[in-house]
Amino acid sequence: MKVDVLGVPFDNTTRKDALRQLLNFLTEDHNHLLITPNPEIVMEAQEDEELMKILNEAELVVPDGIGVVLASKFEKNSIKERVPGCDLMFDLFEVMKDMEKSVYILGGAPGVAEKAKRRMGEKYRNLNIIGVHHGYFNEQEEEKIINEIKQLKPDLLMVGLGCPRQEKWIYKNKHKLPVKVSAGIGGTIDIMAGTAKRAPIIFQKMGLEWLHRLLAQPTRIRRIIKLPLFLLTVLKNKINRK
Ligand code: UDP
Repeated sequence: MKVDVLGVPFDNTTRKDALRQLLNFLTEDHNHLLITPNPEIVMEAQEDEELMKILNEAELVVPDGIGVVLASKFEKNSIKERVPGCDLMFDLFEVMKDMEKSVYILGGAPGVAEKAKRRMGEKYRNLNIIGVHHGYFNEQEEEKIINEIKQLKPDLLMVGLGCPRQEKWIYKNKHKLPVKVSAGIGGTIDIMAGTAKRAPIIFQKMGLEWLHRLLAQPTRIRRIIKLPLFLLTVLKNKINRK
C-alpha cells in the first residue's frame, strides 16, 4: 500500500518487508529502482518535476527520515516505520553474502568506494562486490563506467552521488543497465567506508539521527531548517483538502 506525502508515494512497509521486496526484485529480470527520500527530498520534488516523476515511477520508495513518518500521521494511513536506507542495505548484504549475487558500488570521493568494498568484504564475508567507481566522473568516464556495469552485470547497483543527482542518474540509465536493483544510497557509501559514523543506537531509536548528524556537521543546519517548513506544508495541504 502507498501513502502519499506531498505527491510522493511512499510504500507503507517495514524494514523486514522492504528487505523481502528487494530479494524478490533480485529474482526478476529487470532493473528496479529503490529510493529512500527524507523530508528534504520531498520538498525538493515540489519544485523539481523530473525528480517527482522519478519518485512516482520507482518500484520501492521508503521513508529514510523520521519527518516523513511524522508527516504521514496527517494522512489516512500513516506510515508504519522509518526504514533507513543504510540499515536496509546492511540487511541486504547479510542475505546476499550467502547467495550468488553481486554488487557494484558507484559514488563517493575518490578512494571511498574502494574502502567501502574492503570494509564490507570483511564484515560480510563472501559478499561479492565485483566493481567500484568514485562519484566525481566526467562524460568520458561515465561511458566507461556504464560499459563496465554492462559487462559485469551486477545484481545490485548502489549509487551514492547525493540527491537528486543519484536518482536522476539511475533513472536516465535504467534501461541501459543489466542490473536487478539500482539503489540511491547517498551518504551510506561513507558509512560503509567508515569515513562517516552512524549515530549511536539511542539516537537512532529516538528518531534523533538528524540531531547527531547536525552536531557532527553544523553546516547541515541549512538543510535541517527545512523540516518545520515541510511539516507545515503537509499540514496546510491537509487543511486545504478538507
Ligand atoms: N557525491 C559524489 N559525487 C557528487 C556529489 C556527491 O559521489 O557529484 C557523494 C559524496 O561524496 C557523498 C555522497 O555522494 O559520499 C552523498 O553526498 P551528500 O551527503 O551531499 O548527499 P546526501 O546523502 O545527504 O543526499
